[in-house]
Amino acid sequence: MTSVKLAPGATIGIIGGGQLGKMMAQSALRMGYRVAVLDPSEDAPAKATSHHFINAAFGDLEALKSLCGMSDVITYEFENIDAEILHTLVDDYYVPQGAKTVLTLQNRETEKQAIKDSGARIVPYEKVETPDAIRAFMETHGAPVIVKTATGGYDGKGQYLIESGADLDSAGIPFDETEFVVEKYITLEREVSLTIARSVSGQVIYFPLQENLHKDQILYRTIVPSRVDYAEQAQKEAERIMKALHFTGAFTIEFFVAEDGTLYVNEIAPRPHNSGHYSIEACNISQFDAHVLSILDHPMPEVYLHQDAVMMNLLGADLDRLDGELFTHPEWNVHVYGKTDRKPARKMGHVTVLTDDLEQTIDALDRDFLKET
Ligand code: ADP
Ligand code: MG
Repeated sequence: MTSVKLAPGATIGIIGGGQLGKMMAQSALRMGYRVAVLDPSEDAPAKATSHHFINAAFGDLEALKSLCGMSDVITYEFENIDAEILHTLVDDYYVPQGAKTVLTLQNRETEKQAIKDSGARIVPYEKVETPDAIRAFMETHGAPVIVKTATGGYDGKGQYLIESGADLDSAGIPFDETEFVVEKYITLEREVSLTIARSVSGQVIYFPLQENLHKDQILYRTIVPSRVDYAEQAQKEAERIMKALHFTGAFTIEFFVAEDGTLYVNEIAPRPHNSGHYSIEACNISQFDAHVLSILDHPMPEVYLHQDAVMMNLLGADLDRLDGELFTHPEWNVHVYGKTDRKPARKMGHVTVLTDDLEQTIDALDRDFLKET
């Protein structure tokens, strides 16, 4: 990809106007760029941070072309763009991230195959089309296993934890509707993630390793730096993956740390990631700044952490409890995305706290977030 260095005043087109698109736009606006956004929701968070807002479906080629037509460079927060549409856009407009990597990562089977081929370590998995194939996998690798839709899954959606053959019968996995992969269920000691940005001409910067706690498969909190030291190993795995897959922009690799200490790559998000949000306040450059700089091929600084940080997601259920006291904690950096439709498990915002005492801050935030109304 040839480097196109766009000056402030140029327009960045973003496919997807959720919180990631909004925070990307905020970085772009700070640097003096104009922003155009396309999103199917008429009150998408990034509508408020865009010069042009197109309210259309991600499958609406004409609308996407009109976004591209008004933009000097195209990026996305939504990674499930239809392959044919994406190829059309990449052929006719400037999309520095290209189509290949995002298409590989859209499908868990091709994603896992690519990670495995890179030499990075992943949990045993297989593509499955029948309950019998899952039974056979359980015989080889042992139960429990987790069955995941190959496409379109996020925040644990489309996943089935299968502990036994009986579970399998009652799970009702819709094999005739979509593709699935099965993988071994690991008792997790920890989850960590590594956020990276790579510029068009190949500069790579690494954020500090992030430690993530999920609840009901949704990210609950991120602690930085990770209290378990896998930074060097994670970076080695990232280097293997970057040799196999071409990345431009910010992306995040999620890892599992198993009970025996083995580090496995879980999945890769080819865009800014929830576990990198702390970087807005805690680092000299945020993952969103890095994303904008890297797709525009501007040089980036090495990342450093001003202070340790804890990021808590504000789901709808959290906001129901914390609405009235969001601004009674001056140490909270409050982000509310501006989604009008509040649902208990929907990501509505997040809070980042910088601290010199991680354990005390984690306890205090747990108390505030877990208290009953
Ligand atoms: P999503 O695309 O929904 O984020 P993930 O594969 O990352 O899908 O799964 C979400 C979460 O579910 C993980 O972060 C982890 O907490 C849990 N999980 C997923 N796969 C496994 C596994 N094989 N073993 C143990 N926990 C898992
Ligand atoms: Mg995940």
